[in-house]
Amino acid sequence: MKEILQDLSREELNTLIEQLGEKKFRAGQVYLGLMQGKKLSELNVPASLRAALLARFEDEPVRILETFVSQEDGTKKYLFALADGNLIEGVLMKYKYGNTQCVSTQVGCRMGCKFCASTLGGRLRDLTSGEILGQILAVNRSEGGTLKDRAVTNVVLMGSGEPFDNYDNVIKFLRHLTAEEGIDLSARNISLSTCGLVPEMRRFAEEGIPLNLTVSLHAVTDEERARTMPIAKRYKISEILEACANYFERTGRRYIFEYTLISGENADEAHALALAKLLKGRPCHVNLIRLNAVKERSLRAAEEQDAKKFLEVLEKQGISATLRRSMGSDIGGACGQLRAQYSQIFPDGKIS
Ligand code: SAH
Repeated sequence: MKEILQDLSREELNTLIEQLGEKKFRAGQVYLGLMQGKKLSELNVPASLRAALLARFEDEPVRILETFVSQEDGTKKYLFALADGNLIEGVLMKYKYGNTQCVSTQVGCRMGCKFCASTLGGRLRDLTSGEILGQILAVNRSEGGTLKDRAVTNVVLMGSGEPFDNYDNVIKFLRHLTAEEGIDLSARNISLSTCGLVPEMRRFAEEGIPLNLTVSLHAVTDEERARTMPIAKRYKISEILEACANYFERTGRRYIFEYTLISGENADEAHALALAKLLKGRPCHVNLIRLNAVKERSLRAAEEQDAKKFLEVLEKQGISATLRRSMGSDIGGACGQLRAQYSQIFPDGKIS
């Protein structure tokens, strides 16, 4: 695999263009073209510069291989090919206020959550910052968006992978995403979801990127959490709550808990009451979602009426919560489902 030009920061791009003996303003032209989602071979620069770039860098590090459109709600699911043939996936959800893109941060995942399809084959590799960004550039372009009038207005790091298990590349990506000259997205329009890697949560609070920090909780006791999330053996819920409180203190941002409702596991009224007790008085919000059942796993979604009851109990206890619609369920909307499906066609998870 060649290098990835989209991995370079704006300053690194300046240096590169200088090293290639080109005039300074070419760096701006290249950067603009990249942010518009262009391939290197499509950049509006002299042919000699294009050739020099193509000799060293990938023409199109993230390519949309397939697009699936949900008949239910217009959600789009993308299968992307990376330059080394690895496959990743992403989703674009259309809401009244804009379009939210869900990006992957790793090829696969090694966190091992029992309900999640992303982790079925473990982690193959981390994505580079340019490969995370490349997903957004590709989708924005294919949706007819420009830099000024973006088709992607919100970004969530909730695709395959654990963002804090690929910390440095994720931070570099976030700086690119929020840069004024780049995509220029406000941190308020970005959410990052973690299974609760406590040291990285604390480190992230100091980065000066006040995005919406989301933690996958899915249980009310450490013992129950460990049944579906192996990471619970490493970090206690109490440590996660302390790291969340620290995040609020450092950024002023309210934090969010994801709670996937699984039948017979975490969805009873008693669980709702225990969750309310755990979170009472904290500046947080709870996102409930019924499990998106994964074919390879035996876990089942909680019934619709049980999910509504769970929400009612939380609200009655004064906890801010919403029951999210599961979007795009007809197109394998849940993490890793599409890639897993394709891996049966391409058994090593790659295309040649
Ligand atoms: N690794 C990160 C981000 C990726 S998963 C994390 O753990 O938070 C994004 C969210 O989807 C997490 O809350 C995850 O627990 C949840 N999720 C994964 N598989 C799911 C499924 N089959 N149904 C519902 N939610 C699921």
